[in-house]
Order: sequence, then C-alpha cells, then structure tokens
Amino acid sequence: MKHTKSIEAYAEAKKVIPGGVDSPVRAFGSVGGTPPFIERGEGGYLVDIDGNRYVDFVQSWGPLIFGHCDPTVEAAVIETLRRGLSFGAPTLLETELAKEIVELFPAIDKVRFVNSGTEAVMSAIRLARGFTGRDDIVKFKGCYHGHSDSLLVQAGSGAATFGAPNSPGVPGDFAKHTLLADYNDIESVKRCFEASDNIACVVIEPIAGNMGLVPADEEFLKELRELCDANGALLIFDEVMSGFRASLTGAQGLTEVKPDLVTLGKVIGGGMPVGAFGGRTDIMSKLSPEGPVYQAGTLSGNPVAMAAGLAQIRQLKADVAIYEVLQMRAERLVNGLKSAADDNGIPLQVDVRGSMFGFFFNDRPVKNFDDALNSDTDRFAKFHQAMLDRGFYFACSQFETGFISTKTTDVMIDETIRNAREVMGTLK
Ligand code: PMP
Repeated sequence: MKHTKSIEAYAEAKKVIPGGVDSPVRAFGSVGGTPPFIERGEGGYLVDIDGNRYVDFVQSWGPLIFGHCDPTVEAAVIETLRRGLSFGAPTLLETELAKEIVELFPAIDKVRFVNSGTEAVMSAIRLARGFTGRDDIVKFKGCYHGHSDSLLVQAGSGAATFGAPNSPGVPGDFAKHTLLADYNDIESVKRCFEASDNIACVVIEPIAGNMGLVPADEEFLKELRELCDANGALLIFDEVMSGFRASLTGAQGLTEVKPDLVTLGKVIGGGMPVGAFGGRTDIMSKLSPEGPVYQAGTLSGNPVAMAAGLAQIRQLKADVAIYEVLQMRAERLVNGLKSAADDNGIPLQVDVRGSMFGFFFNDRPVKNFDDALNSDTDRFAKFHQAMLDRGFYFACSQFETGFISTKTTDVMIDETIRNAREVMGTLK
C-alpha cells in the first residue's frame, strides 16, 4: 500500500498545525507510521488521498452508526442547510431532538445542547457543583471526559489522593478538587468520600471506552449509586460514547442504576459537532437562564447538527432490531480475532457492548486502568500497522474502542478475521 500523498500532506500539515493534527490521537503516536489523510467515506469504508480503501472500524470514533454518507442523514443535512447554517436563535429542531432524548432516557427530564462531549461534561460538572454547593468531584482512572481543566487529572500516588494535573496549563489549584478512584473498585470510592465531605458528584463512563472497552460491573454501579445518595453527591453517567451505541438508551439500557445527570455526544450529532447534558428537572432548572449556573454557546443547538442527529436517532428508533444485528457482528468480529489469537498462542481479551467492541493483548481480564496498562502495546502496534497495510482501519491505540456500523457487513468482518489470522501468525 502506498502512502506517498499522505506522507507529503502530513509534512505540510505539521508546518501550520501543531503535530499536523487537530486532536492528538490522530497522529498515530502510539502505533507509529503516518496517519492516512482521508479523502472520503463510503458506508463502511474509508478512502485516503492515495486512493487506499479501508474497512473502517472507527466510524469517526463512534458517531456514524449508519456509516459514512448515510442517505437519510445526508438528505436531512442538505435540506436544513439550504435554509441557513446558523441563527443563534431558537429553532423547532432543538425541541424535536430534545423530546426524542427525554422520551428515551428516563433519567433525563430536560436536556441542553452544546458543541462537544468536552463541553457537555464540563457543564454537567459545573451544574453539579452549583446544585450541591460543593467543590470536589470524583473521577475514575482511565475514564476520559474531555479536556476541560478539572478532568485532565491523574493520580499522584494510589487511589483517593487529590489529583495532580496531567497537562501543563492546568493549575494545581483546579486539579486538587478532583479525587481519583479505581474503576470497578468501590473501596477506592469510599476512600474518596472519607477524604472529603465536599464532593459534588461522581462522574463515570458506565461502559468505559477510553481505556479500551471496560464495562462497569452492575454491583459496582449499584454501590456507587448508594454511596452518592448516602453522601448527598450527584451521580453523572458520561455516555458521550456509549449513548446510542451500547443500546438505544446507551449503558442505561443495560443497567438498573439511574444517574442524576447524563452527558451525551457523538451519535446525537450524526457526525456533526454536538454534545448534550441532561437530568432531573430540579437540577436542570438551576441552569441559566432559569437558574444561576451559567452556561452558553453561540453555535449550540446548531440547526444542521440537530437535523443530522434527529435523522440518525429516528432511524434507530424505527428499527431497534439493528442493535441485535450490530452486536452479533461485533461478536462475530471479536470471536474471530480471539480464535485467530488462540491458534497462534497469543493472549487476547475481548468484549462487546452493542456496537462497541474491544480487544486487549493481555493474558488477564481487564477490569480497570491498571489492568489495561498491563497489555502488550508493542504487539498491538504491530497488529495495527499490519492490518492498516492490508486495508483495515482499527482505532490507533490499545486504549480505544472499536465501532461497528450498519454498513459493516459479515463479509467485511470475515475478511478482517482472515487477515487478522495471517497477521497474528507473524506476531507470535
Ligand atoms: N466523554 C467521553 C466518554 C468521550 O469518549 C469523549 C470523547 N471521546 C468525551 C467525553 C469528549 O468528547 P469530545 O471529544 O467531543 O469533546
């Protein structure tokens, strides 16, 4: 496979864009090589500027549940943009999309739209702080909630320590309000509540997708709910990734636990930049202009983005059986990868939730971030490069999740497995 044009384009981009990319993961830092520059998408495929075609298991990191250039989403976008791109004034589309979300998510009585997942979680946390009058928050190691200051934090030493920033530019004074706990470990959360009586909220990806795919245990989520209630803290489910992916109602469709606030993104914009946060009326009514907690956005609720999201969500609602098909395909893929690995004596852990899939080059089950870090990232990098070279575009890090779209057919999956088997043979 030739990458001449991408190599050239990457060099040009680096002259004017830091690292040549607008989001760090795109630079392929952990797998090496040049990221293909994309010319277009076609359903389940990506085509780069050198004309190479790839089966796309990233789907823009989740939003495109119907694949690239879905005709229904495309038509909605075109029809809407003909009436104007943005007004900064209310439109009917916002209420329509809000109604769909409120109807589907029992935890959401009211919802506000923003432009990214980062903004959604940042705003939900401000709201939780404003509502409770408390400053501290608890997050889990390995969960990603966007790049706002309070959330770019990692452990100093051990769990339940007050966090230290993991990026220059984040003042230590901000980070000290973020306490860290271990995923799927309720004792570590208890230690946070022992360390602080000023905790506004616990924020969690109920199905973590940002350390690879690591679902939370049901018992753990139940205990988390109880701990929050006992301590007067809010529970925030960050479903920016799992929303409309794990099921029509996200991770919430797979657990009995009800959060106080929910954040969404990705699928609700159909590929356009959208995020949202919502929850109980009494909490959401604290939000400006109804209440005192400020939050705003010039392009928030952008009509084209709303139209794309609506078109996608209505299609999903009209054919909920899609989720079973997507899950079966995701299982077909990971089972195939697992059997290819087993036959070559390579330890591989696999998991699936709806149309989300994950695989770790790891000989033990992965329950938290430390387990995930135990994976063989060198082997992953070799696997990634070899598969890319054969025309299969997987997420470019061991600590990311893969996505199946409705355009990812069984034939494409079988072809992927056949190639993966050959590649695994070279990775023993
Ligand atoms: N929360 C979660 C769970 C995410 O997966 C992401 C992005 N991958 C974000 C928040 C941030 O969203 P965005 O990149 O749209 O700012």
